[in-house]
Amino acid sequence: MTIAILGAGILGTCAALAIADRGGRVVLVERNDQPIAEASLHNEGKLHLGFTYAADPTPHTVRTMQAGAARFLDVLGRWVPADALDRLCSRPFDYVVLDDSQVPAAAVERHFARVADAWRQASRAAARPPAAADRPFWRPLAPAERDAHYDGGRVVAAYETAEIAIDPRGLAPLLRRAVAGHPRIEWLGGTRITGIEPQGEGHAVLVEGPAGPARIGPFAAVVNALWANRPWLDRMLGIDQPGPWFIRFKAGVRVAGPPPDGLRSVTALLGPYGDVVVQSDGRTYLSWYPDCMIGSSRSAEPADWAPRAAGLDRDGIARRTIAAMAAIQPAARRFLTCPAAAVEVSGGAIYALAVSDIDDRASRLHRRDVVGIRSHGSFHSVDTSKFTLGPALAVDVADRVRPP
Ligand SMILES: Cc1cc2nc3c(=O)[nH]c(=O)nc-3n(C[C@H](O)[C@H](O)[C@H](O)COP(=O)(O)OP(=O)(O)OC[C@H]3O[C@@H](n4cnc5c(N)ncnc54)[C@H](O)[C@@H]3O)c2cc1C
Repeated sequence: MTIAILGAGILGTCAALAIADRGGRVVLVERNDQPIAEASLHNEGKLHLGFTYAADPTPHTVRTMQAGAARFLDVLGRWVPADALDRLCSRPFDYVVLDDSQVPAAAVERHFARVADAWRQASRAAARPPAAADRPFWRPLAPAERDAHYDGGRVVAAYETAEIAIDPRGLAPLLRRAVAGHPRIEWLGGTRITGIEPQGEGHAVLVEGPAGPARIGPFAAVVNALWANRPWLDRMLGIDQPGPWFIRFKAGVRVAGPPPDGLRSVTALLGPYGDVVVQSDGRTYLSWYPDCMIGSSRSAEPADWAPRAAGLDRDGIARRTIAAMAAIQPAARRFLTCPAAAVEVSGGAIYALAVSDIDDRASRLHRRDVVGIRSHGSFHSVDTSKFTLGPALAVDVADRVRPP
């Protein structure tokens, strides 16, 4: 019998490919006309090695991120040629500690040392660990180097790391091609999922497609890969989330054209700050949390980015985000005079188990350890948590649905 994958983000797409590669017949249901069209397309693409999670006193988040990151390129290498993946990797990240960081620089350094220890273990089995090979895993920048790149009034410490991002815009067409060419994947695009019901040993799925409402199935197994709408579908089967959760709607800014000389990929620690990612395609991605976080929802009803994004002050978000990151890294100032046509603001939803936002140092957003697959018979609900974890979790859910 056929397996239904609901949602074609990084998780659903890779799960469909992994199951189909093992001989399973898959129906991949998605409301957009093509795979990888929402959060998995618009995100920053950082392949988290755990540096960001300096406020988690336990080792769990670092281990979770590294376990996913270590497998990221190896899993994608099944469907995307290695040289194409290499071309999508960004300039490696610096980390800067700001003067009002929730975690002081000395504690950040102790955390980075733990991240490095854990990575030695986690990366051992990876054929292609996603870390820049031409840099130390991390090292502090001397004050003169730091001041050459960053604003000395705001930045109290700076570090080079080997962490990288992958450009989701470049990855998307390569995965779409793999889905389109797979003989055992039936693509049901332009099809909104409206419900799910147990039927016999499996489940039937209610959809609204180009031909109107329909009931499809029953399916031998169903993978709920709907990300922001995952709790809504789980609830239809009486499944609760493992704790209080909320959904944030977050934007990012992409600037086209060659980056300014010397511009570095950087993440500011630790609090409601931002990032710069110098991508391989000549674009630069910037985010500044206070301006890019455009809203949140705790409702169990469908939570979608598109209606939230309608009427967004995109120019204002872009201008304030660039100005905030230029106050940290002056090389980014040149973006302030970019033509509007070169600037794009897009985003998506982010589900997480948490009560408060990241300006609260005790927020569970600073921890991402309760994530992944929860199976209820033949129904598998997957909290991807991060783009970083998508490919590895996809193979893990394939192992449950159709063991190799
Ligand atoms: C601005 C931003 C920056 C981020 N930066 C990073 C980062 O740097 N690194 C990182 O690791 N993670 C990052 N993330 C998180 C990351 O994007 C997500 O964790 C990941 O993309 C989720 O993948 P997914 O496949 O589960 O969800 P999605 O990519 O959202 O896929 C779910 C799919 O389900 C479909 N769907 C939903 N409801 C229905 C329905 N009713 N009917 C039919 N289809 C439906 C959607 O259309 C969508 O295609 C970021 C997220 C955002 C928004």
